[in-house]
Amino acid sequence: MNEEQRRFLYLTMIEGKTYDDVSATLGVHKAELSRWWGMFGDERERMHHWRTKWRNSLPQVDFKSFYEKMSSISSCYYCGIHASEIEQLFAQGCIRTKRNRGRELEVDRMIPNKDYADLDNLVLACYWCNNAKTDEFSAAEFKPIGAVIGQALRKRLNVL
Ligand SMILES: [Zn+2]
Repeated sequence: MNEEQRRFLYLTMIEGKTYDDVSATLGVHKAELSRWWGMFGDERERMHHWRTKWRNSLPQVDFKSFYEKMSSISSCYYCGIHASEIEQLFAQGCIRTKRNRGRELEVDRMIPNKDYADLDNLVLACYWCNNAKTDEFSAAEFKPIGAVIGQALRKRLNVL
């Protein structure tokens, strides 16, 4: 994806601009924009996912910065489990909970009582770390606990 295509996605998905506006702004023909729209389905889905999360709980954070930070992270800050490993755990029936939570990384505040609006305070955590950390432990306090959770989860995948 080049810079122009990235701008196209931002303008349409985040700023809600019409093709006419985007075409005029970027100097790109609308037919070409339609082609890009089709090409970047995965990226659009990722943006949509984060946009929903952002709108539901973090609208005080600038979405563009939030999206750039969150979409660049793919593992739990505490135990290091990767999103693809979580997917595998569920796919292989290694997870006991019948509840829906746990399938994706969640937004966590490293310093629990600090505002969500502080982007530097936000990381992604797996459900098990996030749930165990509650709003009691700081990131530094929780890191060694997360390491043990990570070992237990990876053991289920037999990668340890
Ligand atoms: Zn974790």
